[in-house]
Amino acid sequence: MGTGMGDASTKRVTRCFGCGFEAPDGSDAWATVNHPPLGTLTQCPECGSTDIRGRG
Ligand SMILES: [Zn+2]
Repeated sequence: MGTGMGDASTKRVTRCFGCGFEAPDGSDAWATVNHPPLGTLTQCPECGSTDIRGRG
């Protein structure tokens, strides 16, 4: 009984390397920080690390 959009079942979770914090990719839970050479990076709101591992 699965009538729905198949796309919704794809759930991407991004994880912080530093503390293990997890939140959906692109979620408001993640902070962002500007690094002039690199652009905008995702930053962990818990430990402030930018070592975030998302889609591999
Ligand atoms: Zn963290």
